[in-house]
Amino acid sequence: MAKALTFPGGIHPAEHKELTENCAIEPGPLPRQLYVLLSQHLGAICKPLVAKRDKVSIGQKIGQSEAFVSAPIHSPVNGTVKDIALVSHPVIGREMAIIIEVDPQDTQIQLPDMSKISPDFDETKYDPDHICTLINNAGVVGMGGAGFPTRVKISPNPQMPLDTIIINACECEPYITCDYRMMLEWTDKIIAGVKLIKRATKCEKVFIAIEDNKPKALELFAKRLKESKNCQDFQLCAVKTKYPQGGEKQLICSVLKKDVPDGGIPPMIGVLVCNVATAAAITDAVVQEKPLTHRVVTVSGGGINKVGNFYCAIGTTAGDLIDFCGGLNDKAVKILMGGPMMGFAIADLSTPLTKTSGAITILTKKEIGNAKYENRQTPCIRCGRCIEACPININPTKIAHAVKNDMLENAKQYNMMSCIECGCCSYVCPANIELTGYIKTGKILEARRKKLMPE
Ligand code: SF4
Ligand code: SF4
Repeated sequence: MAKALTFPGGIHPAEHKELTENCAIEPGPLPRQLYVLLSQHLGAICKPLVAKRDKVSIGQKIGQSEAFVSAPIHSPVNGTVKDIALVSHPVIGREMAIIIEVDPQDTQIQLPDMSKISPDFDETKYDPDHICTLINNAGVVGMGGAGFPTRVKISPNPQMPLDTIIINACECEPYITCDYRMMLEWTDKIIAGVKLIKRATKCEKVFIAIEDNKPKALELFAKRLKESKNCQDFQLCAVKTKYPQGGEKQLICSVLKKDVPDGGIPPMIGVLVCNVATAAAITDAVVQEKPLTHRVVTVSGGGINKVGNFYCAIGTTAGDLIDFCGGLNDKAVKILMGGPMMGFAIADLSTPLTKTSGAITILTKKEIGNAKYENRQTPCIRCGRCIEACPININPTKIAHAVKNDMLENAKQYNMMSCIECGCCSYVCPANIELTGYIKTGKILEARRKKLMPE
């Protein structure tokens, strides 16, 4: 295989994948209650389709929006709607959720049945428009990032015709291995999903990009692609193990040597990027007409008693999953929904998993580093490391300074809105300045100013 492909900038944080990379996916907890958030994706928030005390069944649609950019939500369990109320949201603070009391006699958490998908899977029996409809009905969203509704991404758009698909199989965030385990255990299901995306979008070129720290996955995909029907022209590429290799724009730069215009999106240059978990969800949506109600979540870090990869009902709380893993140990100091680079610290264990929650990471003081844990910031020494590490080549220190001094217009001129919040700048800063935190704050202030977010 050719030399691993890469992009400018980026960093090499300790991976910590060894904690869970050999942990096969196993069923997660069956909680007493689920908190299914009405906002789990980019776009319009769903309206509830059920009311308090209604009975709900597995896969029943319980929320939707008429807006174009949205995705419906479904019940992962049989049970009764206990309430519809504000609960803690891992990203936006608080949001309405449908709280379902689970009927334990009538619900189990079972791993998906893989027997229906084989290398002979023939996507040509599905009409392209029907694939889009089924993906929409199932509420599939991008499961590796911000949760953009997949139907919107793959539906034909004459203004931005697509010709290339890149399957994002990088999983560059430290500690997280849920996508890796899916690649090893659900290979045919992922490949079937890729074939369906190609059929729906009519793209000519398909690249499957895997970081070169996953040789087993590279080998397995090479073998299965040879054996599978209709995918001999899919190109498997090894990309360099570097953070944030899985960022859409960085991956496009690595694989195609093309740049997405500043402030633009991949379809502007004819590219669709789709994560492996999303490809697997597409197969479920089309072949079994199964909505997106569960996902694989990595639980890792030095602060938890049992690590692993768990197939969980969406709406399971962080607390229920932590209890299922034997609870926190006495070294735990920080709980993140996500990984240490892009995850969100949570203080409320009743925060539920959403369609985009790939991990819960529980860190110890040692893992965070003493200086960062104690927030020992010192003045900027103008070393320029943050600029060197920034994968999109902006100046983090100038933006952070502008936000700190309430000069939002200046921060915008320095391209604050283009920041992908990867955390590389904060990671390398020897002065421990929380550059990404300032930039995130600046973006929130801007969203509030534009009334796109509540005060
Ligand atoms: S400025 Fe944004 S994109 Fe650049 S390194 Fe920092 S967080 Fe990443
Ligand atoms: S890395 Fe930190 S100390 Fe160095 S220039 Fe950037 S903000 Fe300043």
